Amino acid sequence: CGIVGYIGYREAYPIVLKGLKRLEYRGYDSAGIALFNDEDKELKISKTKGKVADLQARLENEIDTSGTLGLGHTRWATHGVPNDVNSHPHVSNSGNLVIIHNGIIENYETLKKELTSRGYTFTSDTDTEVLVNLIEDVIKKEKVKLGKAVQIALNQTVGAYAIAVFDKNKPNEIVVARLGSPLAIGVGKEEYFIASDASPFIEFTNNAIYLEDGEMAVVRREKGVKVRKIKDDSLVDPYIQELQL
Ligand code: GLU
Repeated sequence: CGIVGYIGYREAYPIVLKGLKRLEYRGYDSAGIALFNDEDKELKISKTKGKVADLQARLENEIDTSGTLGLGHTRWATHGVPNDVNSHPHVSNSGNLVIIHNGIIENYETLKKELTSRGYTFTSDTDTEVLVNLIEDVIKKEKVKLGKAVQIALNQTVGAYAIAVFDKNKPNEIVVARLGSPLAIGVGKEEYFIASDASPFIEFTNNAIYLEDGEMAVVRREKGVKVRKIKDDSLVDPYIQELQL
């Protein structure tokens, strides 16, 4: 399983697709990509059970691939069988939040019951769809921004994750977090890459921030990367590692 993301000024699709191919060695049963085009404000998602090559064939017939923000995922199913619906990315009930996730939210059943009792509905059997709606619920209840909402939501979860989330109404940032699954941020000039390891972005930048367990980051197109501890909100001065090419 693996995650890839891009936010910047280039077309995201070729970067994300190639990145997923580089992460294929990690093993997976399904793949999916979300793209956002800032000009027509359109969110496009294509996902399928099967290989990245299957996704590519399907996606290029299904959606328009333009956009400078993109997320890609390869899934190793833990909750819900491998099928198209359970594949990531997953979208919140409002249609605004998009998430990709590697790992397991162990207390998802309890969280799902609470959310269901407040009117949330679920189309997949995944723990991940519970998490994205929990984040949405926090935004609505606490009137906080996406980064804060992700933090509050994660503090209610038990489990392991590498996640990337964005809000299609605020497409200048991607929020990422890690606990128990790897997550690296490639730092370019007004462009940022997200991936399970550096292989998807090494051709674009050799500056990388490896998140530590329990850290999250808000990655902004123009303003850069802000890293915090998920537990206590303390700011972390990120170490930018220079990768050997
Ligand atoms: N638990 C999530 C699912 O089953 C993510 C699995 C993964 O790590 O790819 O959809």
